[in-house]
Amino acid sequence: MTARKPHITTAGADPRLAGGRLTIDLDALVANWRFLAEKSKPSNTAAVVKADAYGLGIVHVVPVLWQAGCRTFFVALAEEGLRVKAVAPDARVFVLNGFFAEAFPIYEESDLIPVLGSLHELALWKKLNKSRKEKLPYVLHVDTGMNRLGLSVEEALTFADDGRNQKPVLLITHLATGDNPAHALNQQQFESFQKLRTAFAGIESSIANSPGIFHTEKGEFDLSRPGVAMYGGEPLSDAANPMRAVVTLEARIVQIRTGLMGETVGYGATTTLKRDTRIAICSVGYADGYLRSSSGSGVPLRNAVPGGGEGFVAGKKVPIIGRVTMDLTSFDITNLAERAVKPGDYIELFGPNIALDDAARSAGTIGYELLTSLGNRYHRRYLHTKTAD
Ligand SMILES: *Cc1c(COP(=O)(O)O)cnc(C)c1O
Repeated sequence: MTARKPHITTAGADPRLAGGRLTIDLDALVANWRFLAEKSKPSNTAAVVKADAYGLGIVHVVPVLWQAGCRTFFVALAEEGLRVKAVAPDARVFVLNGFFAEAFPIYEESDLIPVLGSLHELALWKKLNKSRKEKLPYVLHVDTGMNRLGLSVEEALTFADDGRNQKPVLLITHLATGDNPAHALNQQQFESFQKLRTAFAGIESSIANSPGIFHTEKGEFDLSRPGVAMYGGEPLSDAANPMRAVVTLEARIVQIRTGLMGETVGYGATTTLKRDTRIAICSVGYADGYLRSSSGSGVPLRNAVPGGGEGFVAGKKVPIIGRVTMDLTSFDITNLAERAVKPGDYIELFGPNIALDDAARSAGTIGYELLTSLGNRYHRRYLHTKTAD
């Protein structure tokens, strides 16, 4: 294999006209998937690409994962599944968000596989398959402690005992407290799932999301299902992030102005300047998914990070000043050298210098929400080194 310089594929808005740009390092994404696959061994490793691959784009993400050897993909909606199939026709695609009867013809045509999670859905599936000689495959979702989707453990055990039932191709459950390995619920969920595996002997099973990969016993289950860690998010909340950063978000500086001591900044006049302050007004706001709860002041509900978000520019971190607005956000750049930045320069909002999860914490949320909120006004650059095998 010969490594080359990354090839850049562009998408989204014209960079000359856009307020911000997203750089998505597909090499880092693939490296992250390989790392997770290595950690999951001897289990196989799927990829969760719901919500348009956590906001990064199914059409860009799925082909490189396929190339890296990923063969199984999870999506939330059948519509997303079709988009996976369009770029990876031979992929095994599981649809997590339940099943409605009117979608059956699409499942028949498209080779998507539903994840069924209630007795109602199983009955529907059985009825719709009745006239078919070859029954379509499905995955069975069992709820072991999340109280979201899935049969109860008792329902699943009864279902397994009835020899007339069509067997699932995969048995899954989902961890409620995976990012907190010390939580007692993990052990309880593992134990329930082990019971189910015995009842569904011979059927592939899957429990670990990104966090789960870091604390399940090696090879305990057959298939892991990472999402956020593949995209560079931290798998565990109380440990250093071992994943490579994948996404960099930058916004353009539109204007630099000086506010005088005693003046206020922004909507609600929530910040009063304590000194004469140089302010960089940047072309990004909550309409771009740069959340208003990152504001430097005036966010009554945020308690974890009272100071608000930061940008990184000219080698330094600079705080948000005042409220994030729909299209613009202001940063206090008084501590930068006079000519360090000018209109048209980019300021990093997260990426190599500000971790995705730190940016998320500043907004009182998690990396998942920042990624899946990324708007469609950005210029997008996808970096990928094509390797000659
Ligand atoms: C979203 C999801 C995953 C992936 O979770 P991450 O924490 O992003 O790794 C796995 N399984 C199910 C059922 C999910 O809904």
